[in-house]
Amino acid sequence: MDVFGSSGTRGVANEDITPAFVLQVVAAAGTVWEADRTAVAHDTRLTGRMLENAAVSGLQSVGCDVDRLGVIPTPGAQAYAASEATPAVMITASHNPPEYNGIKLIGPDGTELSVSELETVEEVFLSESDGVCSWRRTGSERRIENATQRYIDGVLDAVNREPIANADLTVALDPGHGAASLTSPQIFRELGCRVITVNAQPDGRFPGRDPEPVETNLSDLGRLVATSDADLGIAHDGDGDRAIFFDESGGYIEGDAALAALANAELEAENATVAAVNVSQRLVDVCDQTGTTLELTPIGSTYITSRIQQLHAEGIAVPIAGEGNGGIYFPEYSLARDGAYIGARFLSLIAEQPASELVEPFGGYHNVRLKIGYGSREERDAMLRAVETVSERADADRTTTDGVRLDYGDGWVLARPSGTEPVIRVYAEAHEKNRAEELASRLYDAACEARESV
Ligand code: MG
Repeated sequence: MDVFGSSGTRGVANEDITPAFVLQVVAAAGTVWEADRTAVAHDTRLTGRMLENAAVSGLQSVGCDVDRLGVIPTPGAQAYAASEATPAVMITASHNPPEYNGIKLIGPDGTELSVSELETVEEVFLSESDGVCSWRRTGSERRIENATQRYIDGVLDAVNREPIANADLTVALDPGHGAASLTSPQIFRELGCRVITVNAQPDGRFPGRDPEPVETNLSDLGRLVATSDADLGIAHDGDGDRAIFFDESGGYIEGDAALAALANAELEAENATVAAVNVSQRLVDVCDQTGTTLELTPIGSTYITSRIQQLHAEGIAVPIAGEGNGGIYFPEYSLARDGAYIGARFLSLIAEQPASELVEPFGGYHNVRLKIGYGSREERDAMLRAVETVSERADADRTTTDGVRLDYGDGWVLARPSGTEPVIRVYAEAHEKNRAEELASRLYDAACEARESV
């Protein structure tokens, strides 16, 4: 697919993602949906309202009425779609830098469109045979004032509040100026926690930090936890579907360790869990210990949700799934990743023991993540060929579900082109830091050399 990457359509606003482009893509989606009513929402990006207007026009032009939800986390838009049985358009670039924006298409069941559904929309988009209707049939619009409160109530209803409230916890929260700035402070307060915040004003310039919740962007939160009596630090990405944690002393908790701790509490024999090809050894170990089947997909949330649905159709329980970037699914709650709900589930474990103790058994691994930018298709292809050549000669198990993964027994390395940015990502994991760096550099160095030679 050229229009839709692994996590929707994203790019620099007004360069790649113009209002005209959004209007056409969303009109194509509206044509495929044939829905009377749809919903449109956006995150806090400066270009969000402009692109929301384009999406609304696109839907109205093909005869769809539109519910405007305003600024709301992506899981809030998904919950609205599911409760109203209407498809929805989310204008967001999730964790990408402030100049980015994008389109996420959500079906009437509240899940992101599957790869095959996106292909159908792309066909209509490319054929320019959209279903523009006569002026008499163009859609109407209305503003839904209580969409945010409905989302908050939905999260609170799904959480077992008593153990969290009884534990008398303090939460340090960093919603990163994103959409969850409007929802997570209230959610954690209503769960009975004392809440202190940083970067909690919605602001599309993202003055305090970039929207991606990675350790290097979260030093303010780490300091806040360390210098207060907080029991847990929670950070979200720009559209509030991820949660990353800090322990009670301000120590950063690797996303893979948090996922392993949550999975360890959740999984039982005969269950399955779904993760992407960059899955950590920590989750592999939890699956081995609990007798759970681990299913691997290409990287990208649509692949994971599609596989969960397939497993459900086979009658197999999937209590938890997701990635080590803080995007975790609890499918019995929702087939949407929800940063606030993930935070609440982690809090229910913290109610029993300090965060540092909870994740301690899942430490002991070192992860390396590198990225190599490219400026042209030639550079990209040369780098991928170099990775291919190195991997074919490697003395390791080779997986090519998405990019190339090499498992060496004591560690693994994966190289793959990003679905959302012009970079090739290299991931490695091993018990020893040197070993992880060595594994990553084999593919990284080969790719860099290939890029220089173009
Ligand atoms: Mg996101």
